[in-house]
Amino acid sequence: MKKDHDFKYTFELVPARASRGKALDDIISFAQKAVDDGILSALSITDNAGGHPALSPTALGREIQTLGITPIIHFSCKDKNRNLIESQLFELDRHGLRNLLVLTGDYPRYGYKGIPKPVFDIDSVVVLEMISQMKKGFLIDPRAPGGGTRLSPMPFRPGCVVSPFKRLEGELIGQYLKLKKKVESGAEYVITQMGFDARKFQELLFFMEEAGIDIPVYGTVFLPSPRLARAINKGVVPGCVLPDELLSRMESWKGPGKRDRLEFGARLIAVLRGLGYNGVHISGPGLAYEDVAWMINRSEAIKDLWWDFIGEFEFPHLWEFFLYEKDEKNGLNKRERTKTQRTKLPIGEYLSYRTSSFVHELFFEEGKYLFGPTKTLIRLLEKGGLNGVLTSFEKAVKAPLYECQMCGNCVLTEFAYLCPQSQCAKGLLNGPCGGSRDGWCEVWPGEKPCFYVRVYKRLRALEQQCTFLKHTLSPRDWEEWKRSSWVKVFLKKRVDKVPS
Ligand code: SF4
Repeated sequence: MKKDHDFKYTFELVPARASRGKALDDIISFAQKAVDDGILSALSITDNAGGHPALSPTALGREIQTLGITPIIHFSCKDKNRNLIESQLFELDRHGLRNLLVLTGDYPRYGYKGIPKPVFDIDSVVVLEMISQMKKGFLIDPRAPGGGTRLSPMPFRPGCVVSPFKRLEGELIGQYLKLKKKVESGAEYVITQMGFDARKFQELLFFMEEAGIDIPVYGTVFLPSPRLARAINKGVVPGCVLPDELLSRMESWKGPGKRDRLEFGARLIAVLRGLGYNGVHISGPGLAYEDVAWMINRSEAIKDLWWDFIGEFEFPHLWEFFLYEKDEKNGLNKRERTKTQRTKLPIGEYLSYRTSSFVHELFFEEGKYLFGPTKTLIRLLEKGGLNGVLTSFEKAVKAPLYECQMCGNCVLTEFAYLCPQSQCAKGLLNGPCGGSRDGWCEVWPGEKPCFYVRVYKRLRALEQQCTFLKHTLSPRDWEEWKRSSWVKVFLKKRVDKVPS
């Protein structure tokens, strides 16, 4: 267990969809009280939370920093391409805003005259890589105009998010494998998704220890209003779970300043501290600074009673899968991993996988079987000016089989012959976002399973899960869009785009 001598408290601010007005004045007033009181170590500022537009966290971060408290800037990938990401990182460094919480981000919601175009050009793992390079001295790509220069180091402190609160094995394993990638790419601390289950909170600590991930970890203590609690319970907030019995408890919260709500938060803080978390990240609508301060002081007073509170944060029926066996003595986890059964794939899926795998080995593995003759044929066709025919042929084969969109850089072999470009709503290449619920995609709940759950199921059934999310994939190069991946494999160069 980690020691709690330096237990930290942070609080999450959610900017309004405005540049002035009472909601923003209240945030500044909250921050001023936090500075005067000194209990909170930092204030985090969300980035278009829930996919809705709002004042940028940079604007609010600058004001808060001037008051004398550290802002943590949420930095998501949903609304910006890689060039805007780079530009905004320069901006943040310029303003001395270097504590970042890097996340994929919720799918964008209704904005000006409709739903905006989702971007997700690069994912949180690649943003963390970019930040790591900036910390060392970012080398501008020599192929870019003015490239080849190395910039001065930018001392960012990036963190990341993980959710242990996933019901299915395929969802949970994806979260943990992606966490490993995030840490390898430079994440220096981790904050959990909101959740209320003590055993799940502990599971994350055990996994991190087992995986050798030794960075500070903060548990989110989220206190919803009854209205928001009902919405989460119905499943309308991406990736968040709130069980019926907890909703009933929340709806009966009463007392001055909703004292029961704050007592609940104080007890959860005590539990997280007892489990070994390095601190907590507090959030919830309508919390005044005085509420937060009361809750923190109360949690300090009851911290030694945390074992007594564990039963209040147990919801075992919610989860189909735990990574570790249950410790019946205390309702938490033993150190042994849960034994899982191999499942069977439906015959159609099995045949699709096996056929794809066979064809790949036959034609595309360098030095094997038909790779050489195919390469010769493609070279001849290319010399004969038939590039367009080759590209169209690839599209005709792969579109019906994989819903191929001809991204030009095929990664089917990385994902058990499922295509992330067409099957993942956010087109993510380095692991799942946190938005899935009960195995369904955040964007198409009840209609389309999460892409990563599908990949995991395929690999798990075929006992090849060790190949899953092993290394970081580079983002797509949009210069390759609508060009042939096959020709690239054989001739190591780009060819014509598909005729429209
Ligand atoms: S990864 Fe790209 S080339 Fe491969 S199937 Fe998907 S869209 Fe097509």
